[in-house]
Amino acid sequence: MKKYPSIDPGLCSNCLGCVEIAPKVFRYNRETGLMEIIEREEYPIDLVDEAIKNCPEDCISWED
Ligand code: SF4
Repeated sequence: MKKYPSIDPGLCSNCLGCVEIAPKVFRYNRETGLMEIIEREEYPIDLVDEAIKNCPEDCISWED
């Protein structure tokens, strides 16, 4: 089953750390002022796991 990374917007501090680690997965939306997940066929598990590990607010997770 396909897994999607997800960000809890209530916790995210827009530090952009996840964009530095995985710019093909995470991006900042200037219009909403929120981080968002880029729609992809597949997500690089290693990079998303790295972003999860390094997120200072602990607000990234995998969802089915
Ligand atoms: S690393 Fe975490 S806190 Fe920082 S922008 Fe990404 S999701 Fe938000």
